[in-house]
Amino acid sequence: MSRLETGAAAEPLDAPWPAEHLEVLGRCPACASPSRTLLFEGLSDRIFRAAPGRWTLWRCSGCGAAYLDPRPDLAGIGLAYRTYYTHGGTAPRDVFAAGGGLRRAVKRLRHHAHYNAAFGYALRPAAPLARWVAPLSAAARAQAGQLIRHLPAPAGPGSRLLDVGCGNGDFLRIARRLGFDVMGLDLDAAAVARARGSGFTVLAGTIEEAALDPESFEHVTLNHVVEHLHDPVGTLRRVLALLRPGGRVWVQTPNLDAEGLKRFGADWRGLEPPRHLTLFDASSLERALCAAGFSRIALLPPKPDGAYFFAESLAIQRGAPVDRSERALRRRIRSEARRADRVARRQPERGECITFVAHRPA
Ligand SMILES: [Zn+2]
Repeated sequence: MSRLETGAAAEPLDAPWPAEHLEVLGRCPACASPSRTLLFEGLSDRIFRAAPGRWTLWRCSGCGAAYLDPRPDLAGIGLAYRTYYTHGGTAPRDVFAAGGGLRRAVKRLRHHAHYNAAFGYALRPAAPLARWVAPLSAAARAQAGQLIRHLPAPAGPGSRLLDVGCGNGDFLRIARRLGFDVMGLDLDAAAVARARGSGFTVLAGTIEEAALDPESFEHVTLNHVVEHLHDPVGTLRRVLALLRPGGRVWVQTPNLDAEGLKRFGADWRGLEPPRHLTLFDASSLERALCAAGFSRIALLPPKPDGAYFFAESLAIQRGAPVDRSERALRRRIRSEARRADRVARRQPERGECITFVAHRPA
């Protein structure tokens, strides 16, 4: 749910960000190039209305990433998260859970058949013929892959997975159901408490501070994490060190080449200043993964999330969500979002988000 919908208390956004917690970069935090062009200026936190300050987003001419400069420093960034929660909201619909009516049972059979065929699982109950008789649509297949973060079936028991920025533990639940030995990490103390309450092992703090053994995970996932990091390549290096040789990282982040950014400009939901410090397109994220030492880097089919990005961006643009009475506008924006999803299906590098998988060299 967007904060616009929850009626978050408005903060004086015109106040400046505390000067003692501003950091001037002068160069790209992903590739260190000083060469850049202005992308947007005068940006403010119109989503969570937590952070004072106006922000300038630059596009790096060296690698194509974009970054805020100046930006909140590490010691002061907490100010931008005062009303930001990763522990609220509802869990994604769980296609694996037993129960529900006939429709749910059929949906489960079709999904199990897809996961078994495409990702090597042996999920039961499954109807192998469902793949031919009632295959999932292209959009449903994309959604299904995203739901399990494209995890191939675990090689055996004890295959370890770390979810960085695990929030409530929604994905830990899915990964455990798929047979992984899961662990989470999050900065949000309330989210950590909730995930622990659900029986998960979750560490509080940053991945740099976390007491984790090197080469101890087969998988690390970072869902909407890299854009928040002060040193994205440094953190990816730390992830690499945690992976066993041949291990795999899965990364998803908003995409600078999104159709929604072209449509909404400074109002695009993915910008989220000043919490999103660095934004990537497909080539700059691939380059960052490579710089961190990863190999076998691949861009995955996108999540069909045009509807979310377009509705949220329109709400930011108008300062309020679209009213139920505004049927024509709702219809138009839904149709634009579907078009963006179709473009992204053909060209994953133009999705609202980009999703990569990369490996630690064996
Ligand atoms: Zn750069």
